[in-house]
Amino acid sequence: MNRKEKKYYLELLNREKERIFKNLGYLREGIESGEKGIPTHIADYGTDEFEKGLGIDISDEERKILEKINLAIEKLEKNTYGTCEACGKKIGASRLRALPYARYCIRCQREKEKGGR
Ligand SMILES: [Zn+2]
Repeated sequence: MNRKEKKYYLELLNREKERIFKNLGYLREGIESGEKGIPTHIADYGTDEFEKGLGIDISDEERKILEKINLAIEKLEKNTYGTCEACGKKIGASRLRALPYARYCIRCQREKEKGGR
C-alpha cells in the first residue's frame, strides 16, 4: 500500500470516527460553527480516554466500532492494514472503501458469521 492509499484510508477512518462522535452529540457545536473535523486532541484519543475524558455514555456497538477504527489506524501505521487477520490475504479495495475498519476479508467474515452464531 503506497502513501497515497494510506492517507486515503486514514481519512476514511477518521471520517467514520467523526460520524460516531457526531452521533454521540459531541460534535454538534463545532459543526454548527462551520468547524471542520474533530479537534486533534480528541481524534488522538483512544476509546477509553475518550470516554473518561468526556464522561460520555457510549453504546456497545459504537464502542466496538471505535475500537476497530483505532485498531485499523494502528495497522496503517504498522503497514499491516488491508490484510485479513484470519487468512492473511489482502482485503479487497472495494470492501475497504465500504468498511475501512474491516478486519477480515469477505470470505473469512462470512465464515465467522456462519460459525459464530
Ligand atoms: Zn481472510
